[in-house]
Amino acid sequence: MTEEDYMSSAIKEAEKALKEGQKPFGVLIVDPKGKIVWKDHDRVNELFDPTAHGEINAIRGLCLKLKNVSLSGYTFYTSSEPCPTCFSAMLKAKITRLFYGAKTEKTASLPIPVEELNTRAKHPMEITGYVLEKEALLQRESAVSN
Ligand SMILES: [Zn+2]
Repeated sequence: MTEEDYMSSAIKEAEKALKEGQKPFGVLIVDPKGKIVWKDHDRVNELFDPTAHGEINAIRGLCLKLKNVSLSGYTFYTSSEPCPTCFSAMLKAKITRLFYGAKTEKTASLPIPVEELNTRAKHPMEITGYVLEKEALLQRESAVSN
């Protein structure tokens, strides 16, 4: 699978969130061998938890499943750029790599680019942005106009 294939799957997961009345943010975790081991999405409205973003839910779910607090070697695909809360959680989980789709600067409550946060991290992760950006943006914009 290519990074676009994985991202396409993360965008599909975001679509699922929309259908459940959540915001269109999808997350995929890929293990060091390239296998998709977790899919999750925004569940803020479902759990009445403003921090129940896709990335947080995915970290909690997979760490519990693996009985491990480190996801070193794992890669995250997120349909949108992670917010600072999620990015911090991802650093704590020692995620190795991040691919994100669309930027969130214009809509984020704390618009600090992950690239900027990453420069301050003790153990920075590898970040690649703008993977299938157009598709991810289109999805988000159509959600807002509905
Ligand atoms: Zn977040």
